[in-house]
This record gives sequence, structure tokens and C-alpha cells, in this order.
Amino acid sequence: MSRIENKIIQELKSKIRGQVISPTEPDYNKARTIWNAMINKKPGVIVRCSGVADVITSVNIARDSNLLLAVHGAGHNIAGNSVCDGGIMIDLSQMNSVRIDPKSKKAYVEPGAILGDFDHEAQAFGLATPLGINSTTGVSGLTLGGGFGWLTRKHGMTIDNLISADVITADGELVHTNENQKPDLFWAIRGGGGNFGIVTLFEFQLHKVGPDVLAGLMVFPFKDAKSVLKKYRKFVQKIPNELNVWVILRQAPPLPFLPKRVHGKEVVILAILYSGEIKQGQKLIKPLRRFAKAHGEHTGAMPYEAWQQGFDPLLTPGARNYWKSHNFSELSDGALDAIIEYAGKLPSPQCEIFIGLLGGKAAKVSPDAMAYGNRDANFILNVHSRWDKAKDDTKCISWARDFFDASAPYATGGVYINFVTQDETDRIAAAYGKNYNKLVRIKNKYDPNNLFRVNHNIKPTV
Ligand SMILES: Cc1cc2nc3c(=O)[nH]c(=O)nc-3n(C[C@H](O)[C@H](O)[C@H](O)COP(=O)(O)OP(=O)(O)OC[C@H]3O[C@@H](n4cnc5c(N)ncnc54)[C@H](O)[C@@H]3O)c2cc1C
Repeated sequence: MSRIENKIIQELKSKIRGQVISPTEPDYNKARTIWNAMINKKPGVIVRCSGVADVITSVNIARDSNLLLAVHGAGHNIAGNSVCDGGIMIDLSQMNSVRIDPKSKKAYVEPGAILGDFDHEAQAFGLATPLGINSTTGVSGLTLGGGFGWLTRKHGMTIDNLISADVITADGELVHTNENQKPDLFWAIRGGGGNFGIVTLFEFQLHKVGPDVLAGLMVFPFKDAKSVLKKYRKFVQKIPNELNVWVILRQAPPLPFLPKRVHGKEVVILAILYSGEIKQGQKLIKPLRRFAKAHGEHTGAMPYEAWQQGFDPLLTPGARNYWKSHNFSELSDGALDAIIEYAGKLPSPQCEIFIGLLGGKAAKVSPDAMAYGNRDANFILNVHSRWDKAKDDTKCISWARDFFDASAPYATGGVYINFVTQDETDRIAAAYGKNYNKLVRIKNKYDPNNLFRVNHNIKPTV
């Protein structure tokens, strides 16, 4: 870690309303720790902002003192881009208010809010917008990379529901941006990550959802994986946008509705969400039960907010994680064979293969409407390697990489930027495809000196 001059720390302490944490202070280690335990970076100072003024001050001091600058929303980014070695970490986690206007169905969200904060406030009015599947993920990073989850088929990506944002740019100015105000900046932040400034407020469109939805899991034996996946592939071609079904291949967790003999055995899990009328959903999911003889099932009406937390126990912070990801427009036989082969040799009990289903409304937006352009990604594959001990690093990382290589021939070549790991900087241009050059032009305009570079960096060319 390169130390920061004491006079800079003292200047921050005199100007910041929130907390300034230097490496010698007791809160330092906790404050620099993020979700993925593979990341162990040590910033020179951490500024826990309590409001927009603190963000502006931190940006100005970082720029004028030539400090490396990292921005922390909720610290879920797999690549560890919310923290840096040396430099300043701008921690937004305390700025987490969510205000709902039920009449106009809008949400005004501060950048430290997690998905659980958002859903909690919005569901008090039976409202929601598409977010991810783990309630402790940050709204900020998820939105700036695109954002998808159970409601995406019905209501689009998270960014398709972003109405406006307040952004602190590299020169420390507060800019309000939407389709009409600084539209180039608004285009860029919808997928382009934290490259263009620090977002201090998001305005989202909300939709009526729940409070009860039909949701749950069906768990099938791994020996039936091929037949289940083939039937799944056919089934999802004709489902309404209110219905979403994802596939998870992993060792069965000790879920109470599964027989004990199945715990720890490889299984195929269908995770289901229907956001329409419950009775109609019950009819729609009936064919899933005929895919094979299930080990067990737990489906029914439940609060949307509870389903949004359903996967939290499997995704707790503190484990070592390494991800690889592909986009697929379709699940070809070759892709299914690779998936089944590698699900059959999971290197740790926590490793899993996730297949997220998109399409629906997300596929109806033009690929050049905003920075996120992967509208052909009907399925996003997340190879989630996860384990506890450093001695297993090589084994678990190799499994993810080998599977990634084996399934690459069947993928589109695009990738969801929020699933890109720290060693994949060569995939950034591929993640944006034809939109990349426009992103560079906008980066040249708003951040020519690349102050915001601790991210999946779009490098300026000026
Ligand atoms: C367990 C888990 C489950 C996930 N599930 C989903 C899912 O279902 N759907 C999905 O779409 N994604 C999902 N993701 C990916 C997730 O979208 C990204 O990890 C995202 O980066 C998390 O946002 P964050 O604010 O927590 O991240 P952070 O690590 O805090 O930040 C991520 C990046 O965004 C930048 N950033 C953060 N806040 C701001 C801001 N206000 N202004 C400017 N830049 C900022 C940071 O500098 C960093 O580069 C999941 C991730 C995890 C770990």
C-alpha cells in the first residue's frame, strides 16, 4: 500500500461530514473488506460519505492530489473494483435512503442502497423494478452495469427502468442527466459502469408487483439433467413474460423439502417466479413437473420480498469466488453437453452453474439505445466457482476456466460486464461490442484524464 500524505488525510478530516478512516484506525479492515474474499486491497484512506457534498470534496481532493480513486457501492463486484491499493476509496454505503412516490410509481435511490433496501421500501406499496437475485447486492453497481433478475422478462433490464441520475463528474460538478439532459452521459451510464462519474441519486420507474407472487424451486436428479435441460429449452420458448425460470446445477443444499439422502448430491434446480395472478401461474408451471421425477418441490404464493432474499444463504460474503460468464442466444446441444459435463465434476460443494433467462421485454430494446447492448443474450451463464480455503484456489479457478473454454463455441461472444473478473480486461470491448467506440468518445468528453479508472475501464484516447 502506498501511504497518503498526512496533510491530505487532515484536509479530508476537516472537510468531510461522514467518516474518514485511515489505515491505523480500528474500522479500517472492516471498511476495506468486500464480498469476494479473493480481494485483499488496502486503500490509503477510506471516506465514508454522508452526502453529496462529501462525494464532491473527495473527488476534488483525489483529482487535485493525483490519488487513485475507487468507488464502493455495496462491494459486490466480483473483480473487486470497489477498492484499490493505496489511493482513496469513496465508500457510499451510508448513503442508502430509498424514497418511493407511490402516485407516480417512482423510486429515488441513493447509491449505497442494497437491493433489499429498495425492495423493502417499494414493496410497502406493492411496487418493484427489476433488480438482481441476491438482496445484499448494491443497486449502484448492478444498475450501472445493466442489471437483470426475475422481473426482467416482464419489465426489462434495471437500466430500462432508469429515468434519470445525478452524477458527480471528474471536475467535481453535479450533473442531472436523463434522455433530454446530457443524453450522451445518460446513454453511457446505462451499462458503462462507473467510468463517467459517481452517481449520487438514481430515479427508477416502478411497476405493480405482488406483494405475493408465485415462486419456488423444483429439484431434479442429476441423472435426468439432459432430458430436463432439453425440456426446459423447449418450454421457455413459449412462456409469457410474467414467468421466469432459471436453472442451477450444483450440489443440493440441505433444504428441508429434500430427502436427507439427496443433500450434497448433484442436482438440477429450476427456480421459478411468476409475477401475474397466482392461479394462472400454477397452471403455467404444471408442465415443469413432468420434466422428470423430482427429488422435491417447494413452490407456492410467497411475498416477492421474501423470494428476493431466497438465494441469500448461498451467496453470503466472505467466501473465495471466481466467476466466468457467457451470453447465449440459444442453448444448443453442445452447450448443454458442456454444462452437464462440468456440473458432474464440481470442485467444491459451493460451486454452481447458473443459467439466467432473459428475453421478453429486455430483448425488445435496440442494442444501440444505451451502452448495454447485449440484447441477444437470452440466457446468461454464470460459472460460479466458490470455495473457502486458499489451498483450493487453483482447483476451483481451473474448473471455471476449463468449463468456460468448453462452452465458448456455443456462446455469442458478448458478456455481461458485471460478471467479468479482474483478469478479463481483454473482454471489456467485447462486452460493449458496437457500442464501445461511442463509449470511448463519451469518456474522452467527461473523463479525459481517466480519474475513474478503478472499474472495467473504458480508456480515453485523448
Ligand atoms: C452474490 C451476487 C449476486 C449477483 N446477482 C446478480 C443478479 O441477479 N443480476 C445482476 O444483474 N447482477 C448480479 N450480480 C452482479 C452485480 O450486479 C455486480 O456485482 C455489481 O457490481 C454489484 O454492485 P455493487 O454496488 O454491490 O458493487 P461495487 O463492488 O460496490 O461496485 C461495482 C462497480 O461499480 C462502481 N460503482 C459503484 N457504485 C457507484 C456509483 N454510485 N457511481 C459510480 N460508480 C459506482 C464501482 O466503482 C465498481 O467499479 C451479483 C453479484 C453478486 C456478488
